[in-house]
Amino acid sequence: MLERIKMERSAENLRFFNTLTRKKEKFVPLEKRKVKMYTCGPTVYDFAHIGNFRTFVFQDLLRRWLEYRGFKVAQVMNITDIDDRTIEGSRKENIPIKQYTERYTKAFFEDLEALNIERAEHYPKATEHIPDMVASIKQLMRKGYAYKGEDGSVYYDISKFKDYGKLSKIKIEELKPGARVKVDEYGKEKACDFALWKAWDKEDGDVFWETEIGKGRPGWHIECSTMAMKYLGETLDIHSGGVDLIFPHHENEIAQSEAVTGKEFARFWLHSEHLLVQGKRMAKRFGNFYTLRDLAAKGYDPRAIRYLLVSTHYRQQLNFTFEGLKAAKSAVDRLTNFVERLHEADGEGYGEKIEVLMGDVKKNFNAPMDDDLNISVALAALFDFVREANKLIDNNVLSKEEAEKIYNLIMKFDSVLGVIGEAKREEKLPKEAEELIRRREEARKAENWKKADKIREQLKVMGVILEDTPQGVKWKIERKR
Ligand SMILES: [Zn+2]
Repeated sequence: MLERIKMERSAENLRFFNTLTRKKEKFVPLEKRKVKMYTCGPTVYDFAHIGNFRTFVFQDLLRRWLEYRGFKVAQVMNITDIDDRTIEGSRKENIPIKQYTERYTKAFFEDLEALNIERAEHYPKATEHIPDMVASIKQLMRKGYAYKGEDGSVYYDISKFKDYGKLSKIKIEELKPGARVKVDEYGKEKACDFALWKAWDKEDGDVFWETEIGKGRPGWHIECSTMAMKYLGETLDIHSGGVDLIFPHHENEIAQSEAVTGKEFARFWLHSEHLLVQGKRMAKRFGNFYTLRDLAAKGYDPRAIRYLLVSTHYRQQLNFTFEGLKAAKSAVDRLTNFVERLHEADGEGYGEKIEVLMGDVKKNFNAPMDDDLNISVALAALFDFVREANKLIDNNVLSKEEAEKIYNLIMKFDSVLGVIGEAKREEKLPKEAEELIRRREEARKAENWKKADKIREQLKVMGVILEDTPQGVKWKIERKR
């Protein structure tokens, strides 16, 4: 793990766009320096696709920025391992649901690793919290917010919750009284009472729990309310997810949680926009549906994918294209090469001017990030700086000490971006390569160009790249990606 470099501790100007108020608001957590954050996790019925990862990478950026600003983050991400889709999937394959969901849970964590997404503090699984959910539902029934339908399922009565619609801004007068829905996902036009507990039916097969509220399984929405409050308490600082979760999922989470506690459930709601692929909504039938694995199989570097997902502001639609992915790859390479070049610096020094340049890039990176994670502006400032500093290396102006300071600054920015990783400060040349370089120098002195070129090729096969410069021969080790 990369050593965490000293944090920037001034968070006075930190502002986020809050979906609840549709405004940018100054962010101050309830507890000083601690942020309680809940992020809706994957439903493990399939491999997560790049649209899902856009949201997870956004949440990672949010987490890393809070850490950069000196907050300690307690993040919970649920694993939905019981819902309509996981049951359907396991039934299709005719295997136990646990076996089915474990496959995709494992894949999900591998993908997080590949995308360099920091681990949350807790990943509670829905199936391991059934008694907690039953307790929440019983409380809602006791308080008059829930009722048992004639089908044995327990429904939330949205007419009883006066704030229903405050997040998605739907108007409750438009709702049909008494209408209700048992499926987990539905649209705004169908807003109505929703299932907290689904009574068993034959479609569920052997997936059920025998509980005080009947034989069945929880609805999707109660899973999140219950687990969020269990691990983080009654009021969260931040709740986030993709925009498609605003209704009904997050609206229902508010209704459930606030009816139980009488307190505000989440103070800030942050939502990331959709991802399009080549200008279209991603769908298997359009042939533009990609998982992370699909892209890795095509040879794309996960760090370039991360960069592409992270580099568009989260509240803008992101159009994923292969040209964009290539551009992302070259942006990552530019940063990585820059960091590598910093070890070469050996000049007289740029003096005070380097402090000014570094001060500027810090200001110009931090200010837009504090302004609702405006990453495009922050990245533009970073690349301007890289261009200037590259010129100083070209002209052999930068001193070793200055290069070291710049290295630390870039790695601090990368604690947020997460695309450079552990750039090696000193690379070691294998003994064999050292010997080959020596022999090539001899051949060159003897003007035996043919032999010199042959040795260069041999070194290339070993991953050692030579460059003949006026200062002599230089080498670098090609990164295996
Ligand atoms: Zn959720």
